[in-house]
Amino acid sequence: MRTRFFSLLALPAAGALTLLGCAQKPAPQSAPAPATTAAAAGRQPRPEDTEYYTPVPPVVTPGATYGMPPSDAVVLFGGSDLNEWVQLRDKSPAKWPVADGVLTVDKKAGGIETKRSFTNYQLHIEWRIPVGITGSGQARGNSGVFLASTGPGDAGYELQVLDSYNNKTYVNGQAGSIYKQSPPLVNAMRPPGEWQTYDVIWTAPVFNADGTLKTPAYVTALHNNVLVQNHFEVKGTTMYIGAPKYTPHGATPIKLQAHGDPSPPISFRNIWIRPLP
Ligand code: MG
Repeated sequence: MRTRFFSLLALPAAGALTLLGCAQKPAPQSAPAPATTAAAAGRQPRPEDTEYYTPVPPVVTPGATYGMPPSDAVVLFGGSDLNEWVQLRDKSPAKWPVADGVLTVDKKAGGIETKRSFTNYQLHIEWRIPVGITGSGQARGNSGVFLASTGPGDAGYELQVLDSYNNKTYVNGQAGSIYKQSPPLVNAMRPPGEWQTYDVIWTAPVFNADGTLKTPAYVTALHNNVLVQNHFEVKGTTMYIGAPKYTPHGATPIKLQAHGDPSPPISFRNIWIRPLP
């Protein structure tokens, strides 16, 4: 209700802040250049030289508890339907089974991706390795969150999903890794049967008009609220064989991997995203 409260008031920024007891002076419209301002006025710098009041950050109502979507989130999977998703292969409606608020991988149907495309964002997603998982290494509960799906199959940038609870594999391929580029800082894995969370900040790569890379992608990720990727500079799309490389792209869907290993399928729930500037 906070959002409505403030929007109904529709006060100018300075007025709203005065109401809250936070401001006593008219607000400048943009950040001043403090040194120049003080010098031009022929006086010593003052505290207010470096204080500004607009633009006012939007009010967002946080989720009631950790993991619940804030008021400005786009819910990609809230537990009831897959309206935000399509099959990767032919863009038909997503066919993965939904039951009891949980989405489970259908390996035969193949991967799914969002209908919407995104650039920079904050993502929350929860996943669970089933009790009784079988296999070892990469063949044990393998899936993945492609932070940008740049094409069919595994094209894109994969944040690995795997059972990494007492399961040895190459470290830059375990859960929380940027696949074959960056191992997680720590292994924060819960055992099979328990829900895991990923919270991700994705900064998309930017390309020049001629297709060359202007700025790389960056990823920060938390696994079960533990930092596992700290503003990692992504080297390009994640490759099973060969070196990562960048190919120009714009806004992209987010993709969930249907990995071909024979272990029982994993599940997802509570997926939401906040597009960022
Ligand atoms: Mg994977």
